[in-house]
Amino acid sequence: TVVFVSGATGFIALHVVDDLLKTGYKVIGSGRSQEKNDGLLKKFKSNPNLSMEIVEDIAAPNAFDKVFQKHGKEIKVVLHIASPVHFNTTDFEKDLLIPAVNGTKSILEAIKNYAADTVEKVVITSSVAALASPGDMKDTSFVVNEESWNKDTWESCQANAVSAYCGSKKFAEKTAWDFLEENQSSIKFTLSTINPGFVFGPQLFADSLRNGINSSSAIIANLVSYKLGDNFYNYSGPFIDVRDVSKAHLLAFEKPECAGQRLFLCEDMFCSQEALDILNEEFPQLKGKIATGEPGSGSTFLTKNCCKCDNRKTKNLLGFQFNKFRDCIVDTASQLLEVQSKS
Ligand code: NDP
Repeated sequence: TVVFVSGATGFIALHVVDDLLKTGYKVIGSGRSQEKNDGLLKKFKSNPNLSMEIVEDIAAPNAFDKVFQKHGKEIKVVLHIASPVHFNTTDFEKDLLIPAVNGTKSILEAIKNYAADTVEKVVITSSVAALASPGDMKDTSFVVNEESWNKDTWESCQANAVSAYCGSKKFAEKTAWDFLEENQSSIKFTLSTINPGFVFGPQLFADSLRNGINSSSAIIANLVSYKLGDNFYNYSGPFIDVRDVSKAHLLAFEKPECAGQRLFLCEDMFCSQEALDILNEEFPQLKGKIATGEPGSGSTFLTKNCCKCDNRKTKNLLGFQFNKFRDCIVDTASQLLEVQSKS
């Protein structure tokens, strides 16, 4: 079976590609340049089951046409993972909303036009951000589940970069469900979405830490390199380990009961304070060097500042235990410290 993975060079996607190859799938990935694609192929030791295509910018109209003109007749499964995940912009439409929405639209259009008879399953990497707005996430009386939708509008989500990113995920996901409804007669695939909380965990290849770390991993990397007495921003929200996010991408198309579902990936709520506590407890070499905040205050902070999550439906559908926050943070920090010690 041939699986297409968009944005294959990203933090989550690399784990997905690795799991796909290990399970015996053939993978066609997309990356933004020849250089990035060559780099990826080299890391996977030129695995004969992996090939790469260039999709330079998912914001461009018909961005995926060429790939599906070329490979449409072999691809059975499409995992659309590419989307901008950064907050250093003030042009929210151009840099976040439009690429997210256009990318989703153009990959689905390309399937319809060039692979309608072959593609059976599409999985889109959405986010908890499509389920709840930043305001909802701080509402202690709000419960997020698989039926929730971020209520921000195209206009209201542009209040700041974080809301705009969340809006980009909402509108991209909505584009996909609408497309499915409007094109029932001309496509045969089923759709599932993966809606993860904050994703942490080790990079598949440690050297990804050296050249521009992805946004969610930077939250933990910054805690590891904080100086004693620094203030830190107490991020909070649902958490999930990247290795579980990857597993869920495979199960989403392998398990028939996941068709048509939104899979909300959350092991537990976390905050940065809890990560700091773990770092101070588990890494003697960091103790006394990094910030401590107010040890033990994490759970009270969450009770007072965070919504609740209910993803029993997803856990039943997927049927495996998610990794715990402590283990995830220990594995993430161990890799960071190892890379630091070598540089
Ligand atoms: P990364 O930034 O590592 O991956 C994003 C990928 O998308 C990269 O390969 C990137 O390419 C590509 N991409 C971004 N913009 C464009 C564009 N305009 N044209 C072509 N490719 C583009 O982040 P993650 O692995 O964390 O994110 C993967 C997916 O998971 C995203 O859809 C994200 O929204 C979602 N997600 C992530 C969460 C997290 O906490 N990490 C939580 C919930 C959802 P390049 O790097 O070359 O620019």
